[in-house]
Amino acid sequence: KKEELKTFIGKKTISKDGKVVEIGCNIGSPKDLEYVLDNDGEGIGLYRSEFLFMDRKKFPNEEEQFLSYKTVLEKMNGKPVVIRTLDVGGDKNISYIKIPKEDNPFLGYRAIRYCLKNPDIFKVQIRALLRASNYGNLKIMFPMISSIGEIRQAKTIIEECKKELENEGIILKNKYEVGIMIEIPSAAIISDLLAKEVDFFSIGTNDLIQYTSAVDRMNQTISELYTPFHPAVLRLIKLIIENGHKNNIWVGMCGSVSGNPELIPLLLGMGLDEFSMNPSKVLNSRKIISKTDAGFINEKIDEILNISDAFELRNTLKNIL
Ligand code: PEP
Ligand code: MG
Repeated sequence: KKEELKTFIGKKTISKDGKVVEIGCNIGSPKDLEYVLDNDGEGIGLYRSEFLFMDRKKFPNEEEQFLSYKTVLEKMNGKPVVIRTLDVGGDKNISYIKIPKEDNPFLGYRAIRYCLKNPDIFKVQIRALLRASNYGNLKIMFPMISSIGEIRQAKTIIEECKKELENEGIILKNKYEVGIMIEIPSAAIISDLLAKEVDFFSIGTNDLIQYTSAVDRMNQTISELYTPFHPAVLRLIKLIIENGHKNNIWVGMCGSVSGNPELIPLLLGMGLDEFSMNPSKVLNSRKIISKTDAGFINEKIDEILNISDAFELRNTLKNIL
């Protein structure tokens, strides 16, 4: 089976009926690039930059951050690299970032909320990212966006950093994109409006499932309620993709649903442009896509999303495939 998968190395990711999509990888550090290259990832769909901030005693400075981002961009050699800005809080703890104790940390002070309230810290990262953009195909992504104001504030900070760098004589020679994760239901619901502000969306199903279903992603006791087959989750995913496309932006997915063999055909039928996953899943996903008729699945979507029960929906989907 491994040998069969190897035949997909170096191939385009293309469905049975000719739809081309991209499979990128999720990484936590430049060290993971080895696996990306071995498994023929077509880019980086999610670089979780918070790992650079973990397991140390203080914030990485601009130079340290710059070097990490630059390494990834250079090694990917012009392929797209989505770097997510600091996503701290909730399940992601960083010892020296003191977040006051909260009753509901998943609903609290975290990610973009923390960064916007600490512009001095945020700007160090944005400056490092902008400087690194000269070394490849960078896409900056903000996590945990729940409103349009947050996007506008974050974009203002990018503009401020750009001016600073210009004044320092640093020339930014490459185009870069700015996008957001859609992982909070409020963002999904107004994705038609948010799409007008950004270059791309990446759907974060790990959190989107948790917030849509009100099921803590870490809670084992109720883990049976944490399912991507809930029609509410799948309807939101469809809505996000449609709203992105109506506004001519690309839509990817970096939550673990994008590497789920049972759901890849459905996502392809919905028109997802980019799938980002653990490197070990790339070749098998490329194989699944090569066997999927995206047009056929597309015609079945309404039928599938009208099934009210997650268990039943999952079985119907299996039968259709
Ligand atoms: C997600 O929420 O789906 C996601 C990709 O980000 P993380 O798992 O890091 O929260
Ligand atoms: Mg998330």
